Amino acid sequence: MKAAVAHEFNTPLTIDDVPIPAINENQVLVNIKASGVCHTDIHAVHGDWPVKPKMPLIPGHEGVGVITEVGSNVSHLKVGDRVGIPFLHIACGHCDYCLEGKETICPDCKYTGYHIDGGYADYCRAEADYVVKIPDNIGFIEAAPLFCAGVTTYKALKVSKAKPGDWVSIVGAGGLGHLAIQYAVAMGLNVIAVDTGEDRKKLSLELGASHFIDFMDGKPDEEIQSLLHTGVHASICTAVSEQGFESAYASVRRGGTLVLVGLPPDDMPLPIFDTVINGITVVGSIVGTRRDLEECLDFASRGKIKTDIQVRELDEINQIFDELDSGNITGRIVLDLH
Ligand code: NAD
Ligand code: ZN
Ligand code: ZN
Repeated sequence: MKAAVAHEFNTPLTIDDVPIPAINENQVLVNIKASGVCHTDIHAVHGDWPVKPKMPLIPGHEGVGVITEVGSNVSHLKVGDRVGIPFLHIACGHCDYCLEGKETICPDCKYTGYHIDGGYADYCRAEADYVVKIPDNIGFIEAAPLFCAGVTTYKALKVSKAKPGDWVSIVGAGGLGHLAIQYAVAMGLNVIAVDTGEDRKKLSLELGASHFIDFMDGKPDEEIQSLLHTGVHASICTAVSEQGFESAYASVRRGGTLVLVGLPPDDMPLPIFDTVINGITVVGSIVGTRRDLEECLDFASRGKIKTDIQVRELDEINQIFDELDSGNITGRIVLDLH
């Protein structure tokens, strides 16, 4: 089968002919039809994070397609089912976190396109218990970004505990952020989007943001103060930059919450005094559970979420990474593997 393979950190991927993966009794084989490109895939091939991915690696954790083979222990899925393979490839199922429904923080969990080969390929192996079915009325191209960008931002908004009528800022209106705007609007929240460029401004306002602040044109936290005469109830930071996190923190009102989602390889200085005195909550949020994913797909299946998609080919992956890394992409890129 054809796959985009990273052989070493910080070198271009190559398009290789590799064997179709063999499955065990608890797995399924998925013929990938579409695969979204997440900024996490760039962090993986750059080796940006303290926990390193395997090498060689087939990246991709927004792969969706059709099941072509089912392991002998699997009874709830069949050949022909349409499924997606999320970042949470598998969790242990019996630790405290798994039992509490917090499988995304299971210490033994494995990530698709990171610890295990992912969806930049014609076929991908998946754990039957961790794939999620795609609603019939969502096509493969449209479904792919929901398996990471969608579920991650939907979950982050839940984690923020923002309630209808509250103000949230979405800092970073890229692949994740432009979906965050839509989930926030669908949840009855008022949205301020923070990013840069006319294209992102136009898209953010079309998707229902009440305001767009260009972080290149001033200080977003000061602009938010002058718009609301206070800060936001919650900020969801998906920016791939330390400055984005600092300005997101500074834009939160007393008692508010900053949800960290973006994963630039930096540290974020956290002022102890302001955090204590203002009663600020700072919380990390990592993807979402299978239940979160079902809920996030349901919003889309009811027509409330529309990903802004650029369809591209697998062969273009290195160019796509360059464009995404230099901030030249609006919305999400989805590889058409049909
Ligand atoms: P993306 O490149 O599509 O979007 C990032 C956006 O941030 C861009 O639009 C960019 O212009 C914007 N940005 C950069 N600096 C900014 C600043 N100072 N203020 C406001 N916006 C700024 O990337 P993506 O695919 O949306 O991923 C975003 C980040 O989220 C990555 O670091 C990725 O690894 C991470 N991520 C985390 C999770 C999770 O579970 N926590 C899941 C998926 C992705
Ligand atoms: Zn992702
Ligand atoms: Zn566990």
